[in-house]
Amino acid sequence: MATKSKSQSKSQSKSQSTSQSTSQSQSQSQSKSKSKSKSKSKSQSETQDRQRPYRRLESERRLKQLMKRYYLWTKVGPKLGFKTAWLTSGAPVEIPLAMGVIPQYPENYGALCGAQRVSVELCQAAEARGYSPDLCSYARNDLGSIFAPDKAPLKGLSRPDVLIACNNICGTVTKWFEHLAHHLNLPLFLLDTPFYRGRRPDHIIGYATRQVEELIAWCERHLRRPFSEPTFRRVVARSAETITLWNECLDMCTARPAPLGCADRFLAMAPVVTLRGSRAALGYYRLLKREVIARLERGEGAIRDERRRLLWDNIAIWYDIFNFFNRFAEAGISFPVDTYTSAWSGAIDINDEPARGVARIYSGIYLNRDMQTKIDLMARMIQRYDLDGFVLHSNRSCKPYSLGQPVIYNELLARTGKPGLMIEADMVDSRHYDAKRVASQVSAFMEVLG
Ligand code: SF4
Repeated sequence: MATKSKSQSKSQSKSQSTSQSTSQSQSQSQSKSKSKSKSKSKSQSETQDRQRPYRRLESERRLKQLMKRYYLWTKVGPKLGFKTAWLTSGAPVEIPLAMGVIPQYPENYGALCGAQRVSVELCQAAEARGYSPDLCSYARNDLGSIFAPDKAPLKGLSRPDVLIACNNICGTVTKWFEHLAHHLNLPLFLLDTPFYRGRRPDHIIGYATRQVEELIAWCERHLRRPFSEPTFRRVVARSAETITLWNECLDMCTARPAPLGCADRFLAMAPVVTLRGSRAALGYYRLLKREVIARLERGEGAIRDERRRLLWDNIAIWYDIFNFFNRFAEAGISFPVDTYTSAWSGAIDINDEPARGVARIYSGIYLNRDMQTKIDLMARMIQRYDLDGFVLHSNRSCKPYSLGQPVIYNELLARTGKPGLMIEADMVDSRHYDAKRVASQVSAFMEVLG
């Protein structure tokens, strides 16, 4: 066996320690230069942020992380044996969540595709199969992602086990989900919530309650999962707290300057739609509320120099959301309130019987109400948020939202005396958006606002 002499091993250990210290100092200098370049890029992005007419939310990072994890869960969960359901945005997610079922939302996915500007291709894939270009673009986007998954982000949503639709937002979802049931050969539950005018008659709540009870039994049967009332109550309690936090954030926008802008709210609403009732969503809205309070305490608005305040009506123009609202922000115009992100503000009463509580909330949402109620609500918003005018998005896809807007426009003008603007677009199908025309309408409207 070869043995090393003392001097050999001394010189070896010296050279080792020299090379160690060299590599240590190299790695130290590397990490120093890394941290230098990190802090440089951080200060660059801080400078860029300071130059922007709007302030970015710190909690945006958490939101992105949350939604990334959620979409990952929708992809991995089914492979691990979790059941999954596709729901419309107005369907009672608390029921599948309480049964450990992963909820997926084709409408939310449509917004994501719109923001990534891939919806036109997906809509075209649906049109190539014979679906009319007049059909809601969320529906065409979803069908297109099934027919052409290679063109769809994440290759589309994961195949569901069941479909749950509620017609409280529109009649389109009824036909859309019927097509999905036919095409994917899946069971569909349709929760029917009658449209009503003014005060809701009690029989509607009774009718919807019986269907919610049926839905619970239907889910147990088709998903082969037991329904536990104590778990459901816990999910409902979290859902109610999440919605309360969301409402508080929206409410704080009555302040001048408004701490949240329209684009902030459109992005921040994703978890309250898709994950209300989950711990992750609750944690995010606690953080958002803290940030909104901090902005109020510092007197900071979502935009740097708020001079005018407007109401936004209808869904966002997802493929142009930042350009569109930035143009206003640059002119010192903010949007402290809108009719869309506040549509998820109803919480189930924890003291109510679960089925009745679900029926009461889901049958009473904004789009299930008559036009007069909508006008009253918008007029109240204009007064309460101390607004200088309103912008109505005539959304080609969403007829229940957009039909009647000329009447709403005239009524709001007459009742509040505030100027309004109506623009034509589509939430995800940019073929119906004339950016130049809209830009010149916006410029003319800004002149009116002064
Ligand atoms: S028609 Fe309107 S409410 Fe119905 S799914 Fe389309 S965007 Fe949603």
